[in-house]
Amino acid sequence: MKPFDFIIIGGGIAGLLSAYELRDYNTLLIDENGILTSGASAAAGAFLFPKVGFDTAYTRFINQAIVDSLKFYEKEGIDTHKIGVTILPRDERDIEKFKQYEKDIRLPYEKRYGGFFFKEGGVVFPEEVREKIKVDFEIKKIDKLEKEGGFWKVGGYTAKNVILATGHKTVIDIPYINIRPIWGERIEGRGEFRIENEDGIKEDFLPCHFHKNCSLTEVGGIIKIGATHKRNCPECKENEEEAYELINKAKEIVDIKNFEISKIIGGFRAASVDYFPVVGKIIDVDKTMESNPKIVKGEVPKFISYLEGLYIINGMGGRGFSNAYYCAKALKEHIVGNKDLGILDTKRVFIKWARKKGEEYLKEKNVKS
Ligand SMILES: Cc1cc2nc3c(=O)[nH]c(=O)nc-3n(C[C@H](O)[C@H](O)[C@H](O)COP(=O)(O)OP(=O)(O)OC[C@H]3O[C@@H](n4cnc5c(N)ncnc54)[C@H](O)[C@@H]3O)c2cc1C
Repeated sequence: MKPFDFIIIGGGIAGLLSAYELRDYNTLLIDENGILTSGASAAAGAFLFPKVGFDTAYTRFINQAIVDSLKFYEKEGIDTHKIGVTILPRDERDIEKFKQYEKDIRLPYEKRYGGFFFKEGGVVFPEEVREKIKVDFEIKKIDKLEKEGGFWKVGGYTAKNVILATGHKTVIDIPYINIRPIWGERIEGRGEFRIENEDGIKEDFLPCHFHKNCSLTEVGGIIKIGATHKRNCPECKENEEEAYELINKAKEIVDIKNFEISKIIGGFRAASVDYFPVVGKIIDVDKTMESNPKIVKGEVPKFISYLEGLYIINGMGGRGFSNAYYCAKALKEHIVGNKDLGILDTKRVFIKWARKKGEEYLKEKNVKS
């Protein structure tokens, strides 16, 4: 069988959109369970909300990803339920912070319900994304990755290039990537609420999506509430107690009565150390450390060696349904057009890791720094 141009491991939103971006090549997506059927992508509320904050590189990235992904989903005929979102301050301190953020907000907004309303706010349904974004796909668990004769061997296939999109799980150990799992839950159900709209009229439907300590929406009578919050909790599992905590958080936004839960779905999302996604070529740690031993003293590496044909797209954080489109597009442009990945590039996490842990690493390898 002819080697694939690309095999992508992981059928979450990051892997799916990477496979879609690379659909003009001979590309196969592999997941141990199915597309958007497990992992964080199955648990996600899939809200697409801007970030309110100071005008930092991170806020700019997040908000550009929101705008781009809304356009992308619409272009693909996926309903984004773009009725806008109101981001509310969580407490008194947040109210003060929001006043300071005001001058920094770049996206058009209005002040509503004590928070900021953005037209650029929507939600997608993973089931619809799966149905409309078609790629070649196979169910298989990948346990190892090997290189032979210039090709990667993956689950009985060969490929010129492999993209790792495995979320909080790993197929091979890459010491510097350092992805941390964060547990969260999404619940769905039916209930009743009354909310006063901008004209002081009480309505029994939500005029927009909301975000405070959780994200909240209602689509077609189904109320959807989501939040991710627990670090260091590998044993976390879906449970009703947490679901009711989440409903109480939603009640801080709007008074919901007679809520009947129909679904509780939990999952681990993957966060990088600095919250930016990690995208691009996988660095050959041994070769790069050995040729740049002064990196541990803060020197910028002169030459970085890569494991040829191996890439990653991960660390989507709590916003995978918007970040993944931006990152998948950037990854494709990087691979086929050699375009710079900027802040997303794996290089930044490697340099951070090398400065912190490199000394130890070199000692083990017996290399003088
Ligand atoms: C409760 C909750 C609510 C969230 N709400 C939102 C939200 O409202 N909006 C938003 O944008 N984001 C939200 N997120 C975050 C979002 O879900 C993630 O950022 C995104 O889904 C991550 O996608 P991913 O493809 O990187 O990882 P995942 O979705 O975890 O996908 C990884 C895939 O890799 C597969 N895999 C792993 N190892 C192997 C292997 N060895 N072989 C084969 N397959 C393998 C897994 O089966 C899985 O399908 C939420 C997350 C959670 C948990």
